[in-house]
Amino acid sequence: MHFAICCLLLLCPLSGISPEAFGAARPQPVFSIDRDTLRQGEFLVATVSGSASGPGLRFNGKRYPMFRQGDGGYRALVPVENLTEPGRYEIVAGDGDRAQRIPVTVVSNNLPVQKIWLDEKTNSLKATEEEKKQVRQALRTLSGEQRWNGAFDYPSKGRKSSPFGVKRSYNGAPVSSYHKGIDIAVPQGTPVLAPADGKIVLTGYEANRFHVHGNTVIIDHGQGLQTIYLHLHAIDVETGDTVKKGEAIGTVGSTGISTGPHLHWGTYLYGTSVDPELFVRKEY
Ligand SMILES: [Zn+2]
Repeated sequence: MHFAICCLLLLCPLSGISPEAFGAARPQPVFSIDRDTLRQGEFLVATVSGSASGPGLRFNGKRYPMFRQGDGGYRALVPVENLTEPGRYEIVAGDGDRAQRIPVTVVSNNLPVQKIWLDEKTNSLKATEEEKKQVRQALRTLSGEQRWNGAFDYPSKGRKSSPFGVKRSYNGAPVSSYHKGIDIAVPQGTPVLAPADGKIVLTGYEANRFHVHGNTVIIDHGQGLQTIYLHLHAIDVETGDTVKKGEAIGTVGSTGISTGPHLHWGTYLYGTSVDPELFVRKEY
Protein backbone atom coordinates (compact mmCIF):
# COMPACT_ATOMS: atom_id res chain seq x y z
CA MET A 1 0.00 0.00 0.00
CA HIS A 2 2.78 2.37 1.01
CA PHE A 3 4.73 1.42 -2.14
CA ALA A 4 1.74 2.13 -4.37
CA ILE A 5 1.33 5.63 -2.93
CA CYS A 6 5.04 6.39 -3.46
CA CYS A 7 4.78 5.36 -7.11
CA LEU A 8 1.72 7.50 -7.63
CA LEU A 9 3.53 10.51 -6.19
CA LEU A 10 6.51 9.96 -8.47
CA LEU A 11 4.27 9.89 -11.55
CA CYS A 12 2.18 12.84 -10.45
CA PRO A 13 3.14 16.18 -12.04
CA LEU A 14 2.62 17.89 -8.65
CA SER A 15 4.94 15.49 -6.82
CA GLY A 16 7.60 18.17 -6.32
CA ILE A 17 5.21 20.37 -4.38
CA SER A 18 5.20 19.84 -0.62
CA PRO A 19 1.99 19.99 1.43
CA GLU A 20 3.32 23.26 2.95
CA ALA A 21 2.95 24.87 -0.51
CA PHE A 22 -0.79 24.45 -0.08
CA GLY A 23 -0.71 26.01 3.36
CA ALA A 24 -0.99 22.68 5.20
CA ALA A 25 2.11 22.85 7.42
CA ARG A 26 3.23 19.66 9.13
CA PRO A 27 1.76 19.56 12.63
CA GLN A 28 4.27 20.42 15.34
CA PRO A 29 4.71 17.43 17.68
CA VAL A 30 4.22 18.19 21.37
CA PHE A 31 6.68 16.47 23.73
CA SER A 32 6.08 16.44 27.45
CA ILE A 33 7.42 14.77 30.59
CA ASP A 34 5.51 14.00 33.78
CA ARG A 35 8.09 15.72 36.04
CA ASP A 36 11.39 17.50 35.68
CA THR A 37 13.06 16.45 38.95
CA LEU A 38 13.58 12.85 39.92
CA ARG A 39 15.68 10.67 42.17
CA GLN A 40 18.24 8.07 41.16
CA GLY A 41 16.54 4.71 40.48
CA GLU A 42 13.27 6.32 39.38
CA PHE A 43 11.91 6.90 35.88
CA LEU A 44 10.00 9.61 34.06
CA VAL A 45 7.17 9.28 31.60
CA ALA A 46 7.83 11.03 28.29
CA THR A 47 4.95 11.41 25.84
CA VAL A 48 4.50 12.96 22.43
CA SER A 49 1.37 13.77 20.50
CA GLY A 50 0.96 15.06 16.96
CA SER A 51 3.91 13.10 15.60
CA ALA A 52 3.31 11.26 12.33
CA SER A 53 6.57 9.32 12.36
CA GLY A 54 7.95 7.33 15.29
CA PRO A 55 9.70 9.87 17.52
CA GLY A 56 12.65 9.00 19.75
CA LEU A 57 14.59 10.59 22.52
CA ARG A 58 18.04 10.67 24.06
CA PHE A 59 18.94 11.00 27.70
CA ASN A 60 22.39 10.84 29.28
CA GLY A 61 24.02 9.40 26.16
CA LYS A 62 21.46 6.66 25.52
CA ARG A 63 18.70 6.48 22.93
CA TYR A 64 15.17 5.46 23.92
CA PRO A 65 12.67 4.40 21.25
CA MET A 66 9.12 5.50 21.99
CA PHE A 67 6.12 3.20 21.72
CA ARG A 68 2.78 3.89 20.10
CA GLN A 69 -0.17 4.22 22.49
CA GLY A 70 -3.89 3.59 22.05
CA ASP A 71 -4.57 7.33 21.67
CA GLY A 72 -2.22 7.60 18.68
CA GLY A 73 0.55 9.28 20.67
CA TYR A 74 3.92 7.79 21.70
CA ARG A 75 5.40 7.11 25.12
CA ALA A 76 8.67 6.06 26.75
CA LEU A 77 9.32 5.28 30.42
CA VAL A 78 12.86 6.64 30.76
CA PRO A 79 14.95 5.20 33.61
CA VAL A 80 17.46 7.14 35.69
CA GLU A 81 20.16 4.66 36.61
CA ASN A 82 20.74 4.39 40.36
CA LEU A 83 24.40 5.49 40.12
CA THR A 84 23.69 8.49 37.82
CA GLU A 85 25.60 11.54 39.10
CA PRO A 86 23.10 14.04 40.57
CA GLY A 87 22.86 17.23 38.47
CA ARG A 88 21.18 18.85 35.52
CA TYR A 89 20.55 16.87 32.35
CA GLU A 90 18.62 17.28 29.12
CA ILE A 91 16.16 15.08 27.31
CA VAL A 92 16.54 15.58 23.58
CA ALA A 93 13.32 14.56 21.91
CA GLY A 94 13.25 14.30 18.15
CA ASP A 95 10.82 13.79 15.32
CA GLY A 96 12.69 13.63 12.02
CA ASP A 97 14.79 16.78 11.64
CA ARG A 98 13.19 18.62 14.57
CA ALA A 99 14.51 18.33 18.12
CA GLN A 100 13.32 19.69 21.41
CA ARG A 101 15.45 19.99 24.56
CA ILE A 102 13.78 19.46 27.90
CA PRO A 103 15.79 20.07 31.12
CA VAL A 104 15.71 17.39 33.82
CA THR A 105 17.27 17.43 37.29
CA VAL A 106 18.49 14.24 38.94
CA VAL A 107 18.82 14.27 42.73
CA SER A 108 20.43 11.70 45.01
CA ASN A 109 18.18 9.09 46.60
CA ASN A 110 20.51 9.31 49.63
CA LEU A 111 20.56 5.54 50.00
CA PRO A 112 23.32 4.26 52.27
CA VAL A 113 26.47 2.61 51.01
CA GLN A 114 26.85 -0.94 52.20
CA LYS A 115 30.50 -1.86 52.71
CA ILE A 116 30.97 -5.49 51.89
CA TRP A 117 34.17 -7.38 52.68
CA LEU A 118 34.55 -10.58 50.77
CA ASP A 119 37.22 -13.19 51.31
CA GLU A 120 39.04 -14.43 48.26
CA LYS A 121 36.87 -17.53 47.92
CA THR A 122 33.53 -15.65 47.97
CA ASN A 123 34.93 -12.86 45.79
CA SER A 124 35.69 -15.42 43.09
CA LEU A 125 32.04 -16.53 42.95
CA LYS A 126 31.16 -14.42 39.93
CA ALA A 127 28.28 -14.86 37.53
CA THR A 128 29.18 -17.17 34.64
CA GLU A 129 29.38 -15.78 31.11
CA GLU A 130 26.31 -17.83 30.15
CA GLU A 131 24.03 -16.38 32.84
CA LYS A 132 25.31 -12.84 32.33
CA LYS A 133 24.80 -13.02 28.57
CA GLN A 134 21.34 -14.63 28.69
CA VAL A 135 20.06 -12.25 31.37
CA ARG A 136 21.45 -9.16 29.60
CA GLN A 137 19.87 -10.27 26.32
CA ALA A 138 16.44 -10.96 27.87
CA LEU A 139 16.48 -7.57 29.60
CA ARG A 140 17.05 -5.84 26.26
CA THR A 141 13.76 -7.08 24.81
CA LEU A 142 11.89 -4.26 23.07
CA SER A 143 8.41 -5.47 22.13
CA GLY A 144 5.84 -2.95 20.93
CA GLU A 145 2.73 -4.23 22.68
CA GLN A 146 1.96 -3.05 26.21
CA ARG A 147 0.96 -6.29 27.91
CA TRP A 148 0.46 -4.96 31.44
CA ASN A 149 -2.61 -3.13 32.56
CA GLY A 150 -2.97 -1.18 35.80
CA ALA A 151 -0.77 -1.27 38.89
CA PHE A 152 1.41 -4.31 39.66
CA ASP A 153 0.79 -6.70 42.56
CA TYR A 154 3.68 -7.92 44.72
CA PRO A 155 4.81 -11.32 43.36
CA SER A 156 4.99 -12.61 46.95
CA LYS A 157 3.76 -10.94 50.11
CA GLY A 158 6.14 -10.83 53.05
CA ARG A 159 8.73 -8.82 54.93
CA LYS A 160 10.97 -6.72 52.73
CA SER A 161 14.41 -7.83 53.89
CA SER A 162 16.42 -5.58 51.56
CA PRO A 163 15.24 -2.45 49.70
CA PHE A 164 16.06 -1.40 46.18
CA GLY A 165 19.08 0.72 45.40
CA VAL A 166 21.38 0.27 48.43
CA LYS A 167 24.82 1.10 47.05
CA ARG A 168 27.63 -1.37 47.46
CA SER A 169 31.35 -1.02 47.87
CA TYR A 170 33.41 -4.19 47.81
CA ASN A 171 36.63 -4.58 49.82
CA GLY A 172 37.03 -0.81 50.28
CA ALA A 173 36.79 0.07 46.56
CA PRO A 174 34.50 2.92 45.36
CA VAL A 175 30.77 2.17 44.93
CA SER A 176 30.52 -0.07 41.89
CA SER A 177 27.10 -1.65 42.14
CA TYR A 178 23.82 -1.59 44.01
CA HIS A 179 20.91 -3.83 44.92
CA LYS A 180 18.95 -4.11 41.68
CA GLY A 181 15.61 -5.09 43.18
CA ILE A 182 13.90 -5.81 46.48
CA ASP A 183 14.26 -8.93 48.60
CA ILE A 184 11.12 -10.44 50.08
CA ALA A 185 11.74 -12.90 52.90
CA VAL A 186 9.23 -15.74 52.60
CA PRO A 187 9.57 -19.49 53.24
CA GLN A 188 10.84 -21.87 50.60
CA GLY A 189 8.02 -23.18 48.41
CA THR A 190 5.88 -20.00 48.63
CA PRO A 191 4.31 -19.40 45.19
CA VAL A 192 5.74 -16.56 43.08
CA LEU A 193 2.94 -14.88 41.11
CA ALA A 194 3.20 -12.79 37.96
CA PRO A 195 2.66 -9.17 39.12
CA ALA A 196 1.12 -8.28 35.74
CA ASP A 197 0.43 -9.85 32.34
CA GLY A 198 3.45 -10.65 30.21
CA LYS A 199 5.45 -13.16 28.25
CA ILE A 200 8.28 -15.34 29.59
CA VAL A 201 11.54 -14.43 27.84
CA LEU A 202 13.98 -16.38 30.01
CA THR A 203 14.09 -19.40 32.28
CA GLY A 204 17.55 -20.16 33.65
CA TYR A 205 18.56 -23.03 35.91
CA GLU A 206 21.28 -23.31 38.54
CA ALA A 207 22.06 -26.74 37.11
CA ASN A 208 22.66 -25.02 33.79
CA ARG A 209 25.39 -22.61 34.98
CA PHE A 210 23.15 -19.99 36.60
CA HIS A 211 25.53 -20.18 39.57
CA VAL A 212 24.91 -16.69 41.01
CA HIS A 213 21.31 -15.90 39.99
CA GLY A 214 20.13 -19.44 40.73
CA ASN A 215 16.87 -20.55 39.12
CA THR A 216 15.69 -17.45 37.27
CA VAL A 217 12.61 -16.23 35.38
CA ILE A 218 12.28 -13.02 33.33
CA ILE A 219 8.88 -11.70 32.20
CA ASP A 220 8.59 -9.19 29.36
CA HIS A 221 5.64 -6.86 29.96
CA GLY A 222 6.20 -5.02 26.68
CA GLN A 223 7.41 -1.55 25.66
CA GLY A 224 10.82 -1.98 27.27
CA LEU A 225 9.61 -3.19 30.70
CA GLN A 226 10.75 -6.51 32.20
CA THR A 227 10.66 -8.12 35.64
CA ILE A 228 13.14 -10.69 37.01
CA TYR A 229 12.82 -13.34 39.74
CA LEU A 230 15.95 -14.88 41.27
CA HIS A 231 16.93 -17.75 43.62
CA LEU A 232 13.73 -19.70 42.84
CA HIS A 233 13.21 -23.22 44.11
CA ALA A 234 10.98 -24.43 41.25
CA ILE A 235 10.12 -22.85 37.89
CA ASP A 236 6.60 -23.50 36.56
CA VAL A 237 6.84 -21.76 33.16
CA GLU A 238 8.78 -22.03 29.94
CA THR A 239 10.25 -19.45 27.60
CA GLY A 240 7.54 -18.26 25.19
CA ASP A 241 4.65 -18.82 27.63
CA THR A 242 2.26 -15.94 28.15
CA VAL A 243 1.25 -15.33 31.77
CA LYS A 244 -1.65 -13.50 33.35
CA LYS A 245 -1.43 -11.34 36.45
CA GLY A 246 -1.65 -13.60 39.51
CA GLU A 247 -0.54 -16.76 37.70
CA ALA A 248 2.18 -18.83 39.44
CA ILE A 249 5.55 -18.77 37.66
CA GLY A 250 7.49 -20.74 40.30
CA THR A 251 8.25 -20.99 44.01
CA VAL A 252 10.59 -19.15 46.38
CA GLY A 253 13.92 -20.83 47.08
CA SER A 254 17.55 -20.18 47.89
CA THR A 255 19.35 -21.29 44.74
CA GLY A 256 22.43 -19.48 43.42
CA ILE A 257 24.30 -17.10 45.79
CA SER A 258 21.76 -16.70 48.57
CA THR A 259 21.98 -16.91 52.34
CA GLY A 260 18.44 -18.22 52.88
CA PRO A 261 15.04 -18.54 51.19
CA HIS A 262 13.86 -15.22 49.75
CA LEU A 263 12.58 -13.77 46.50
CA HIS A 264 14.72 -11.20 44.71
CA TRP A 265 12.38 -9.17 42.51
CA GLY A 266 13.80 -6.71 40.01
CA THR A 267 12.24 -4.40 37.42
CA TYR A 268 14.04 -3.10 34.34
CA LEU A 269 13.31 -0.39 31.76
CA TYR A 270 15.38 -0.60 28.56
CA GLY A 271 17.81 -2.84 30.47
CA THR A 272 18.23 -0.41 33.42
CA SER A 273 17.14 -1.42 36.90
CA VAL A 274 14.48 0.78 38.57
CA ASP A 275 12.64 0.39 41.87
CA PRO A 276 9.92 -2.29 41.33
CA GLU A 277 7.65 -0.77 43.98
CA LEU A 278 7.10 2.28 41.73
CA PHE A 279 4.89 0.00 39.60
CA VAL A 280 2.97 -1.26 42.65
CA ARG A 281 2.22 2.22 43.97
CA LYS A 282 1.01 3.70 40.71
CA GLU A 283 -0.52 2.70 37.41
CA TYR A 284 1.45 3.41 34.20
ZN1 LIG B 1 18.20 -9.23 46.16
